[in-house]
Amino acid sequence: MRAITVSPGLPESLRLDARDEPTPDPDHLLVGTAAVGICGTDHEVIEGSLGAPPAGRDRLVLGHEALGRVLQAPEGSDLEVGDLVAPIVRRPDPVPCPNCAVGEWDMCRNGRFTEAGIRGLDGYAAERFALPPGFVIRVDAALGRLGVLVEPASILAKAWEHIVHIGTRARWDSRRVLVTGAGPIGLLAALFATRLGAEVHVVDRVTEGPKPVLVRDLGATYHSDSVPEIADGVDVVVECTGAAELIAEVLGRTGRNGIVCLTGVTSAGRRLLTSGLARELVLENDVIFGTVNANRRHYEEATRVLADTDRSWLDRLVTRRVSLDRWREAYNPEPDDVKTIIEFEPAPTLAAS
Ligand code: BGC
Repeated sequence: MRAITVSPGLPESLRLDARDEPTPDPDHLLVGTAAVGICGTDHEVIEGSLGAPPAGRDRLVLGHEALGRVLQAPEGSDLEVGDLVAPIVRRPDPVPCPNCAVGEWDMCRNGRFTEAGIRGLDGYAAERFALPPGFVIRVDAALGRLGVLVEPASILAKAWEHIVHIGTRARWDSRRVLVTGAGPIGLLAALFATRLGAEVHVVDRVTEGPKPVLVRDLGATYHSDSVPEIADGVDVVVECTGAAELIAEVLGRTGRNGIVCLTGVTSAGRRLLTSGLARELVLENDVIFGTVNANRRHYEEATRVLADTDRSWLDRLVTRRVSLDRWREAYNPEPDDVKTIIEFEPAPTLAAS
């Protein structure tokens, strides 16, 4: 079968390989890949700045955002042949740590977890893959190939779960929210925020293309200049760019009891906490926190939210669909890209969009 592989740490090593078919254990699922999404993490793995191959090997199958179709299910599983599923990225560490032991692997304490397509475990950009049924989420058939958005949406399901958790330390209502970045993560952050009834502002660099329209169609306000004045005193910031300058600009702009959630990975080496900021954090009960990855509960919430979201909006989030035959094009970003996916299964066989 065909698989997109890379040698982590070795730039320019991306290629389409012939791989042996997976041979699932009797208690595992065999899944046929329908589509794989591409995100900044894939680009980091390709550039050689992130990632690790499975132990004892030098190549890694890429792809951690995926949608597949069950080809074979173990007896007693509640999944059936033909079901659409989204596979989970992270596997618990082998110890396991107290969090992994209870399924909270996104909060792994010893860092010995693996991540499909990123770190120590082959990903899903292969025509078929096998895995335990506990590491897939059934996707509503009506979502069709838009189910490929479940993984990125799971990141925001977790982010918002934690924001609300922090917010409920006192009386909580979601009022004014600023989202920095209108890529897929920023747009999904805004989607979750509007569902909570917040007044949502999104700031990004571009002035045209699909992003401003996608923001407005959520009922949120788009800003293409610098961080807008309206950001002053905002209750929640969801930072989705990882750009150090922008982060420095938004920190300290929240109102009292403000929450800043960092989802974008900043390049190493910058220190942002100044003594002035530390003073403000204390005197205003502010919280700045980072979030990464997601556990099963977040994937389940993500599938619920996507199933409940206007299909045409989700469909416009996927701005480029590339067939496996032309896979390489998918990794060359284009100016109007929001989310690019590689289709392993021809679109007409997938319901919806
Ligand atoms: C993925 C996460 C993963 C993180 C770090 C992100 O792109 O969505 O699941 O934990 O990269 O590897």
